[in-house]
Formats: sequence, C-alpha cells, structure tokens
Amino acid sequence: MTAVSGSRGEIRHVVWDWNGTLLDDHHLVVEAFNSVLTSIGGPRIDDGFYRDHFRRPLRHMYEVALERPVRPEEWPVLDAGFHAAYESGEEGLELAPGAEMALTLLARNGSLATQSLLSMARHHHLSAQLERYGIGEAFDLVDGQLKPDDGSKSARLTRHLEALAVEDPSTVVVIGDALDDAHAATVNGARAVLYDGGSHHLADLRATGHPVAGSLFEVLEILAG
Ligand SMILES: [Mg+2]
Repeated sequence: MTAVSGSRGEIRHVVWDWNGTLLDDHHLVVEAFNSVLTSIGGPRIDDGFYRDHFRRPLRHMYEVALERPVRPEEWPVLDAGFHAAYESGEEGLELAPGAEMALTLLARNGSLATQSLLSMARHHHLSAQLERYGIGEAFDLVDGQLKPDDGSKSARLTRHLEALAVEDPSTVVVIGDALDDAHAATVNGARAVLYDGGSHHLADLRATGHPVAGSLFEVLEILAG
C-alpha cells in the first residue's frame, strides 16, 4: 500500500471522529442539552457556554449549568433525555460540507490511506446513522460505545489501533473536533488534525499545537502537507 505523503511524513491510516466532525450536528447537541436543562428548571445555554465548559464526562457540563451537583439517580434520566431530544431532531442532520468528498478521496482505489471511525456515540445509533448516509463502507472499522461507560477516547483509541493491527501509530492521523481527540492522538503516539466543528473555542484547539482546520476541505489540504 502506498500512502498519503505529506510534508509531515507518511499517513497510512485516518481515524475519523463522528459527531461534530463528519456529522454536522453541533447545533442539535446544544439544542438537546438545552431541552434537558429546561425540563428540570435549569437555564438555557448558548454556544459560548458550551465551548467554555464542554468536556467529558458530560455530567460536568450539566453541573456547571445547574450550579449544583447532579445526583447519582438523576444522571440516567438526564442522559436518556438528551438522547431522546437528539434523536427527535436528527432526521434533519447533514454530513459536514466536504465529508463525502474527503472519504472518497482518501479511499480512492484503496491506494491512499485506510480509514476508520471512532466515536463516543452509542454503537447501535452510530451504525444506524451511517446506514442513513450510506458511507459505512468507507471504514475498515466502525467503533462506537458498546456500553454507557466504555472508557475515555484515549483508552478507546488504544484498543481501536490494536484492533486495526496498527504497527506504527505515528503514521495514523486522528481527525476530530474536540480536545479529547487531540489528547487521544497524543497519548497514543498518533498525529491529529483538529476541525473547528463548534465544541471548543478555536484558540483552545490551536493551543494543543495540532494543526486546526476550518473545514474538511482544509483538513485534506493539511493531510496533503
Ligand atoms: Mg466530536
């Protein structure tokens, strides 16, 4: 297999993030979050609040917004409410501009980089979304969460790269919209290209030291070096 050969070195495999990266769903995530908050008498939050406070575990963001701890028995209810609100709006979602082109270009003739998908979304839901958009075949491995607390993105990337039998993680690029994606790549010795999909302030993405793209077209330019 030949590989994409950018100035930063050979890229043999790309690990894509899904929510906020290939799937343009940040607005729906904020809306679903607000639906849960307001249902329990909390405030509405805006994009700026989300960028200020988004981090895993997500429970943290509810606690900041509510200005109180989330009780253990309350958490499953909030989590289920979030998923119900998201799912009620997801029919209108679209892939991020350039997503299909990026997948196609990288997959062309199987001769560039191989690709996989690693997401913190539930696996069965992720699979259903991929089917809806008809892009599942682009990936050698689709890896969503099999249980509610399936580990951090870093730990899951470790297992993901093992499952793919990756020998040299420095030839892997993680493409994602979150600081989690950057951290996972760094911890695993992979590279990252961050996409400004809305979850974080641009300055925070840039502060990781990884290249940051404003569009998936720009991601491709960065990969080409
Ligand atoms: Mg994401």
